[in-house]
Amino acid sequence: STDAAPKEEYHSIIKDTEKPTGEGTKHEFQAETRMLLDIVARSLYSEKEVFIRELISNASDALEKFRYVILSNAEQAQKSHSPDRSLEIHIGTDKQNRIITIQDTGIGMDKDQLISNLGVIARSGSKAFLEQLKSQNAPTDNTNNIIGQFGVGFYSAFMVANKVEVYSRAATEEQGYKWSSDGTGVYEVQPAEGVQLGTKIVVHLKAECREFADEDTVRNIIQKYSNFVGSPIYLNGKKA
Ligand code: ADP
Ligand code: MG
Repeated sequence: STDAAPKEEYHSIIKDTEKPTGEGTKHEFQAETRMLLDIVARSLYSEKEVFIRELISNASDALEKFRYVILSNAEQAQKSHSPDRSLEIHIGTDKQNRIITIQDTGIGMDKDQLISNLGVIARSGSKAFLEQLKSQNAPTDNTNNIIGQFGVGFYSAFMVANKVEVYSRAATEEQGYKWSSDGTGVYEVQPAEGVQLGTKIVVHLKAECREFADEDTVRNIIQKYSNFVGSPIYLNGKKA
């Protein structure tokens, strides 16, 4: 018909370009992290959707850090900022394979940062969370309140995932890396080809959490939590 609305522009950066190369190295999570992951994975906390908020918030932080680099370091900016590099967050859902992907074009992480940022609990919220837990005995209903109260950042992905893969390339690096874990004791880090600048988090959902691979469900969650995000968010190639 002639009165059709103008077509929305499709724009996605999520592509299956990454290929691990070379030997991976296995690392143990820090003891505190292991404890946190164990609790998170077994949690009956009902608002599991907050993991999307946490991953968007990390993507947004990474973009802010990259903006800061551009503004404060002209030389580094030139190396890492092609004029057509747009600063965005992309979310992809794949219902068939039960996957949700969160990708940003932010500051990225090199190998050491992947290990120190994703293997060790730095954030004060998670530390406070563990302190609270130590003051009670077994996980109880209260555990769930505590997860809600403090938030557990990146690790909240393991509420819904049986495997998480992180592909990342830091702003000034040629080499990209793959970090992966099933959330039990260890994670693996491996060099990878075809990793775009920034970070891509691939969340393989548990069967009972398949709803988070549904586009409409995810769009509602994004709209609920992303009011304060300063960068555009695309869901399956469309502005969310
Ligand atoms: P917090 O955001 O409170 O620091 P998180 O557990 O959410 O704690 O994340 C841990 C750290 O991992 C972050 O501080 C950051 O250094 C790193 N990180 C997580 N996600 C990303 C990302 N998308 N891009 C770059 N770094 C990230
Ligand atoms: Mg965070």
